[in-house]
Amino acid sequence: MMISILCPCYNEEKSLQVLYSRIVPVMEKTNEDFEIIFVDDGSKDNTLNILKNFAEKDKRVKVIEFSRNFGIEAALTALLDYSSGDSAVIIDADLQHPPEVIPSMIKKWREGFDFVYTKRTNRDSDGVIRKFLTHSFYKIYNAVSTASITEEVGEFCLMDRRVINTVMKFKETHKFLRGIFSWVGFKTTTIDYVCEKRYGGDSKFTFKKLFSLAFDGLLSFSSFPLNFIFGFGLVSLISVILYGIINSFSEMFFLLLLCSLNILFTGIVGVYVGKINDESRHRPLYIVREVYAKKDDE
Ligand code: UDP
Ligand code: MG
Repeated sequence: MMISILCPCYNEEKSLQVLYSRIVPVMEKTNEDFEIIFVDDGSKDNTLNILKNFAEKDKRVKVIEFSRNFGIEAALTALLDYSSGDSAVIIDADLQHPPEVIPSMIKKWREGFDFVYTKRTNRDSDGVIRKFLTHSFYKIYNAVSTASITEEVGEFCLMDRRVINTVMKFKETHKFLRGIFSWVGFKTTTIDYVCEKRYGGDSKFTFKKLFSLAFDGLLSFSSFPLNFIFGFGLVSLISVILYGIINSFSEMFFLLLLCSLNILFTGIVGVYVGKINDESRHRPLYIVREVYAKKDDE
């Protein structure tokens, strides 16, 4: 059996060497065949050179260079596309996900689970504001979406080939993989781990990036805003009729209220139309500039 270790990298020069030297012995000890695939998601530091160096020395390493930064969802999609393992482990480059947990994930997979999630038992490494925003996002998301996800379950996971093949069929431009992972089902289990501190550098997620990820997540797994418009329209119509019958409030108030609601609701519909527009373009999710891998005969 062959296992793919998949790692997205964006300006991770500080941690890569340590990451590589921790993954390799862990995987060698499992006695499984393995490959390590890195995506260089348009890094501006020395990340690509370090990765190319791994690929030159180790034929189990493959490096996919993107033409620019496409973001984490695109990087993960590429990693799944290029993986050839019977199962794959997704792991962050910053060592927040300790590679030493991988053998117990493989064990669960060997027991017959298609999807092994990991649940961090701590979340100390994140700031207070980020923690609050993430928490609020999951609350709202789970209240309105069609596939609920748990907050503590991070992207550090193992999936069987049948899950990978299923996820690869999702061709939407605005991907929200966590939502997709929970939506596809399969036999899942969760193991606990302690999330370590980022080894070097800063989190690559600006609030702008996180916000757009949350937005995509909500829009792709929920029609709540659309249903809400419908309900609200109905209620406001009844209210206006009642107003006509009773006729007490100032007319100006209602006029302004309806005007502003009109703009707001058109805006919400516009957001969806914008997404439909994006999807209908069928643009590629990512562009590969070069793939680096040592061939067997070299
Ligand atoms: N990452 C990426 N492209 C991006 C942003 C992040 O490939 O545009 C990678 C990053 O290098 C890391 C992983 O995604 O391996 C998670 O990012 P980070 O650790 O910054 O996120 P956090 O742990 O703060 O959620
Ligand atoms: Mg991190």
